[in-house]
Amino acid sequence: MSGIEPSERIKKLPPYLFVRLEELKEKALKEGKDLIDLGIGDPDLPTPDFIIQAMKQALDNPENHRYPTSRGLFAFRESASKYLERRFGVKISPEQIVTLIGSKEGIAHFPLGWLNQGDIALVPSPAYPVYKIGTIFAEGVPYFLPLKEENNFLPDLDSVPQEVWERAKILFLNYPNNPTSAVCELEFFERAVFYAKKYQLWVANDLAYAELCFDGYLAPSILQVPGAEEVAIEFHSLSKTFNMTGWRVGFAVGAREAVDILARVKSNIDSGVFQAIQWAGVEALEKGEPAIEEIRAVYQRRRDILAEGLEQAGFKFQKPKATFYFWVKTPKGISSEEMVAILLEQAGIIASPGSGYGSEGEGYIRLAIVSEESRLKEAKNRLSQLKL
Ligand SMILES: *Cc1c(COP(=O)(O)O)cnc(C)c1O
Repeated sequence: MSGIEPSERIKKLPPYLFVRLEELKEKALKEGKDLIDLGIGDPDLPTPDFIIQAMKQALDNPENHRYPTSRGLFAFRESASKYLERRFGVKISPEQIVTLIGSKEGIAHFPLGWLNQGDIALVPSPAYPVYKIGTIFAEGVPYFLPLKEENNFLPDLDSVPQEVWERAKILFLNYPNNPTSAVCELEFFERAVFYAKKYQLWVANDLAYAELCFDGYLAPSILQVPGAEEVAIEFHSLSKTFNMTGWRVGFAVGAREAVDILARVKSNIDSGVFQAIQWAGVEALEKGEPAIEEIRAVYQRRRDILAEGLEQAGFKFQKPKATFYFWVKTPKGISSEEMVAILLEQAGIIASPGSGYGSEGEGYIRLAIVSEESRLKEAKNRLSQLKL
């Protein structure tokens, strides 16, 4: 023990909630149990080959061995801009885009550019933990917006008190949503933009699951709302779209000032993304459509298998229209953590406790369809034998 105290900002971090789960998992593995891991949202599929080939080519070019610019390669930002126009019909200049070391990096750094001590960031609960943690690191205060089933897991913006809006500088949103798999329509983004203009704050939409949509549904971008370009910043990621979680590449796009300040924060902390990776990103964004279709089809088949299994076992959930998550209600009287333990012990299925994503996640578990079809069929069999 050094006797050196960690900072208050470290001490303020929420405890890591998956410790018990990891212990249980370790124990099950030691017992030689055959586990089906639906716990972590990390695709099991490989990155499409055409992207890997582009990376290999870019590796051989010594120009790519030097420091990248902290804004990001112009060609990458141009490809991102073209993708946004093709996919969402929005025209945005590459000047309003910054390359990120994965969208998580941008989301975590964004509050550093805007929050002073005590400023509020509106953060959904349950949610991807980075909105809250980025806020805490910037000495801001998260104000939690409950996502409830009766509101289709959208926050009720109209119920946020005026004095909270007045102290708020950022509103975090994430549709298609992790962990609830909820989606939204453009009308909801219009409402968010309305409040952002009224109270002068940034809407930061996390669109990590832009392309993992099923049954013909296509997720909107907040930038499709007229005037959103003045108050919105959107975080995009290649991770889930192209099975590239390990590569660390994404981008932020939106209001010039919001993007500029984020680029400024970043230029003082990191030096951008390895250019060979950005060139692979160019290839993905420009020629990725067939790969996206394939990846969607894989997850849609998997979704149908698990949906059937959960339904037959009597669980309550909404069949996901997007993302690779199932947000499943625990049976009455059983907590998130208890349900996760039961699934592990009785079925060898690893799930995440909903409570790990915020207090409003209690009473739910999250299952990620990141195992192949044969394993999901096995999960379905095991679910049918569950004794609750
Ligand atoms: C996976 C995920 C991200 C992170 O993506 P990276 O680009 O790999 O950092 C961001 N937001 C949500 C909601 C996610 O689930």
